[in-house]
Amino acid sequence: MKLESFGRVLYHAPIKNTYKINATTKYLLYPKTTSDVLNFLKYAKKEKIPYWILGGGSNIIVSDTEYDGVIVSLQDLNQIIYEKNCVTAYSGVKIPTLAIDIINHGLKGLEWATGIPATIGGCIYGNAEAYKISTFEYLESVTYINEELEIVTKDKKELTYGYRTSYFKEHPKCVILSGAFQFPTGNMKESMEIIQERTKRRQETQPLEYPSAGSVFRNPSPENPTWKIIDSLGLKGTKIGGAMISEKHANFIINIQNATGKDVRNLIELIKNRVKEETNIDLILEQEYKDW
Ligand SMILES: Cc1cc2nc3c(=O)[nH]c(=O)nc-3n(C[C@H](O)[C@H](O)[C@H](O)COP(=O)(O)OP(=O)(O)OC[C@H]3O[C@@H](n4cnc5c(N)ncnc54)[C@H](O)[C@@H]3O)c2cc1C
Repeated sequence: MKLESFGRVLYHAPIKNTYKINATTKYLLYPKTTSDVLNFLKYAKKEKIPYWILGGGSNIIVSDTEYDGVIVSLQDLNQIIYEKNCVTAYSGVKIPTLAIDIINHGLKGLEWATGIPATIGGCIYGNAEAYKISTFEYLESVTYINEELEIVTKDKKELTYGYRTSYFKEHPKCVILSGAFQFPTGNMKESMEIIQERTKRRQETQPLEYPSAGSVFRNPSPENPTWKIIDSLGLKGTKIGGAMISEKHANFIINIQNATGKDVRNLIELIKNRVKEETNIDLILEQEYKDW
């Protein structure tokens, strides 16, 4: 069987990641349907082919060499289906796209997410959140491929989730196919005003002019945000290779000049060690290493 049986394939292709670290994969697969995903997973298991799932690449730190396996991008699984207030979004839908689309259908509930360059699959996986509203807030159920390679649908109440985490982070072999949401009825003018205000706030406080993957570490607590800890140690502006701790937001590492995955990793280690030495706090990484 050929990889092309499961969708479009690119060879030695760049791995999309918002840090803009240069990395490639031997095979980049774009399944078109959920059956393509399932059949590929069965094939990969049988043939012992290494693979991982790529969403928007906005929370990952990739290695600097070519990945010797298959990266599965779900970007072509991008349908949005409406049944009154119940909206099913497939994993490859971009969350800002969904946020605007539901407003155009008279609904609201994702205004917080318009500045997040991520997919629904990635947002469910990490329970992305902003302004105290998380992806799980209006989520009703998730359809996914489980570890036994069956397609199942589970209600939210059957799935664990919390601050920047979910059942899927604890079960990384599962592949999220879609999420079903129940959004409240909205008002377009009010929603657009919230989005404008949030966009302005992000532009003022985050270094959006540089490649990054958002906040590097989780906050130890809402009262003790990580940016404040890093800032208090005078680490803003610290550079390793092409990676730098942002001057604008101390919990952002930015790619200022051809940063490698190793540069980012070394800067993360530097921050963790300094914070541990000075405050005895063990920072927890919010971003994820994809090592090979
Ligand atoms: C400018 C900027 C701002 C950001 N702001 C925020 C913010 O306000 N709040 C916030 O929470 N995050 C924020 N982030 C971080 C990031 O967007 C989120 O963590 C997001 O949830 C990652 O989704 P993704 O689709 O990009 O996933 P990826 O980075 O592609 O993947 C992340 C992990 O999810 C797994 N995964 C992805 N899709 C699936 C799937 N379908 N099934 C199973 N596993 C899957 C991947 O294998 C990987 O382990 C920001 C990032 C940037 C660059």
